[in-house]
Amino acid sequence: MADYDVAIVGGGLLGSAFGWGLARAGARCVVFDEGDNAIRTARGNFGLVWVQGKGQNMPAYASWSLRASRLWGDFATELCEATGINLQYVKGGYDIAADEQELEQTIAGLKKIQAQMGGAAYDFEVLDHKVLKSEIPLVGNIPGATYTEHDGHCNPLLLLRALHQDMQAKGALYRPNCPVASVNPLSGGSYQLLDRSGNVLATAGKVIVSAGHGSRRLNEPLGIDLPIRADQGQVLVTEKVAPVMKHASSSVRQTDNGSFLLGPSSKDVGHDTRTDLKTLAAIASRCITIFPFLGSLRLQRAWGALRVMTPDGNPVYQQSEAHPGVFSFACHSGVTLAAVHAFEVASWVTDGVIPAEFGVFHPRRFNV
Ligand SMILES: Cc1cc2nc3c(=O)[nH]c(=O)nc-3n(C[C@H](O)[C@H](O)[C@H](O)COP(=O)(O)OP(=O)(O)OC[C@H]3O[C@@H](n4cnc5c(N)ncnc54)[C@H](O)[C@@H]3O)c2cc1C
Repeated sequence: MADYDVAIVGGGLLGSAFGWGLARAGARCVVFDEGDNAIRTARGNFGLVWVQGKGQNMPAYASWSLRASRLWGDFATELCEATGINLQYVKGGYDIAADEQELEQTIAGLKKIQAQMGGAAYDFEVLDHKVLKSEIPLVGNIPGATYTEHDGHCNPLLLLRALHQDMQAKGALYRPNCPVASVNPLSGGSYQLLDRSGNVLATAGKVIVSAGHGSRRLNEPLGIDLPIRADQGQVLVTEKVAPVMKHASSSVRQTDNGSFLLGPSSKDVGHDTRTDLKTLAAIASRCITIFPFLGSLRLQRAWGALRVMTPDGNPVYQQSEAHPGVFSFACHSGVTLAAVHAFEVASWVTDGVIPAEFGVFHPRRFNV
């Protein structure tokens, strides 16, 4: 008998959503997290629940993001009722263009996805300058925006906290500061998780490797291919001001405590999380074009964090063929997809099967 039905390696946004979903369904599970020595993307993101523009090169990802956003309201409500933590989820989001060309490109991209998805499900509005100005009076002299109810934003740190708190209340064991060094197959089909000294941390019938940038190290000895790289994003934080912007845009959002987040950038610099003045200046400049009033706010701080990026930007969901029961999951939209990860992907693991329609997310798509 294994100690647990499922052991999860990584307590970031992916592992915590799986752990919560599994505990909610009554599975015995344990979540190991390395702690602050590891790269921890979940603590450095922008907090968007975002659908616009996702899946241009893969309609299945557009549908998946849409499905996640449709479940997000219920997800946030259930977590709030269970923990008392309000995730500050607000529905609706703008993609604001800084110039005409950008607006045209955004509309063309959304129309392409809409056509691929058969129309009605993927609805969005195009707002010209006048309409946008009537909705957000502080907007500058820019051509307009696209808007959809499917987008939204939340406080991602509260999301992580609520998932941690409630998975434990539902019986899962959360083991912080506990790196897993290896996953060893046992003869009866279950798995042993070992620390660096070779001590057994747990045995489990199934294992989810969702350790973000730490996943490849665990996957390689098991023969699991996970083609990910780091995509660095920098974010600026302003001082707090009275609420003036309810809905997020893809590059500017006012948080529940009043500060504005500006960004995030996208750059390939390996595992470097340092901010640099050139990138921060470019972020600030673009955001001030869209919202001139931001130029008068003082900056409080800035950070850099590393997206878990696959070659095509779409998620990877796979079960090892050599080691059935070992799942490896990775994506760069852990906030957006948290609802489907908890409500749906967790049950793929208990069932032991990734449904055929999600086969498109297997990394074999890269080996053509
Ligand atoms: C700048 C930026 C902005 C973003 N904005 C958004 C956004 O607006 N919306 C959105 O949906 N997504 C956004 N993301 C992406 C989102 O943050 C990630 O998808 C999400 O954090 C990934 O979660 P994860 O669990 O895969 O990885 P992580 O959050 O990195 O978690 C992995 C965990 O695994 C642990 N770990 C590593 N190795 C081991 C080991 N050997 N043993 C035990 N534990 C281990 C680490 O301690 C870590 O806590 C953004 C990312 C960045 C960088």
